[in-house]
Amino acid sequence: MTVSDFADLGLAQSLARAVRELGYEEPTPVQAQAIPLLLNGSDLLATAQTGTGKTAGFGIPMLQRLSAAKAGKEPRGLVLAPTRELALQIVEELRSLARFTEIRIAAVYGGVGKGQQIRALRAGVDVLVATPGRLLDLMGEGHARLDRISALALDEADRLLDMGFIHDVRRIVNATPGSRQSMLFSATMPKAVMNLAGEMLRKPARVDVSPEEPTVANIRQQALRVAREAKQSTLTQMLREPSVSRAIVFTRTKHRANRVAKALDKSGIAAEAIHGNKTQNARQRALQGFKDNRIWVLVATDIAARGIDVDEVSHVVNFDVPNEVESYVHRIGRTARAGASGVAWSLVDPEEQRDMAAICRYVDRPIEEIDEDLNPVGTFTVGRPRDNRGGNGERRAQSENAKTGSANTGSANRSRRRKPRRRKTRATAPA
Ligand code: ADP
Ligand code: MG
Repeated sequence: MTVSDFADLGLAQSLARAVRELGYEEPTPVQAQAIPLLLNGSDLLATAQTGTGKTAGFGIPMLQRLSAAKAGKEPRGLVLAPTRELALQIVEELRSLARFTEIRIAAVYGGVGKGQQIRALRAGVDVLVATPGRLLDLMGEGHARLDRISALALDEADRLLDMGFIHDVRRIVNATPGSRQSMLFSATMPKAVMNLAGEMLRKPARVDVSPEEPTVANIRQQALRVAREAKQSTLTQMLREPSVSRAIVFTRTKHRANRVAKALDKSGIAAEAIHGNKTQNARQRALQGFKDNRIWVLVATDIAARGIDVDEVSHVVNFDVPNEVESYVHRIGRTARAGASGVAWSLVDPEEQRDMAAICRYVDRPIEEIDEDLNPVGTFTVGRPRDNRGGNGERRAQSENAKTGSANTGSANRSRRRKPRRRKTRATAPA
């Protein structure tokens, strides 16, 4: 089914108006497919990557169905999300969508005091957005009850499970009435997610927005061969390109995120690191600074970045090549949000060739190789470095590095050598 107009989706007036005021002109593919199914009361299993508009995809029908039913004090809608950032973003979007309804929305998440959350619950909540740990705490203390839940959404289910929340999620799901409507959204569908879907969904409708649309198709993917020790200076140079208006740089570890952000800052590029070791406040500040354009480069680890939802990110830079192709897709999906176009750059050192090869095989379109001046020089092919790059220092360093290992740069990356390709990255702590 393709619906190219919100007016054809059967939205109540209040929601149609909110959507208009948000400036959404037409539904994204996942919205066009999910909204009618959910309005009909179906359970739903949806595969869609970040940036495809999932929040409104489940939010609109949830709000519409709830606003047609009688409110009480206990929450009737529940959204589970893996991180605080994500929970906060969902609340922000739901509140915008609900502004012409009477629906009350609140969030509960860890890392902050409970007082305000308890007060909000006491005052009465229609839709509760929660991270699992804090919700269970509040349930245990008698502050949150789920026996009136009629709609349950799991957002980013793969990440919820990756972060070890499976038992918490099960306990929460089991505390809700069996008669509820359930929806599960996930960027990837590994077996654990399918199992959970089997447990909690009843005859779900399926929506599958293939990874290359709408987001990845609009992303120009480029890769640059560079010696490990030249990465920092190359990055600085790349970010000085006039076409870079806002960038997210990905590193594999928190430590490297800090180092890279510091070095950028020293070179006069306003950058901040965002990762799980930072306090909630520090992360919110960094994100807000990014949204307000006070800083225009965010250096992030994979998990911390899952919650980042900022439009108009012109560039994503893989400072380290991820060792999972799914992470690559997630990362580059941070640019080209909701149909805009963007550029993804990957800095590939000799030890990262294998991971890059896997990525090249996985993505549909060839990844372009660029030279140090960012000019395209052809398709990126692993194992066949180009010869037309002149005998500069970087190149020498690269071949030296290939022979001797990363002797100059210490141990930061030793652990990733010779890793089996499919192994999950769990090095970064939950955000
Ligand atoms: P996801 O959860 O799939 O990562 P989001 O729901 O966070 O995606 O949406 C990504 C961005 O796109 C948000 O900034 C959101 O406000 C915007 N957006 C959502 N739906 C639409 C739409 N129909 N038209 C334009 N922008 C949209
Ligand atoms: Mg989302």
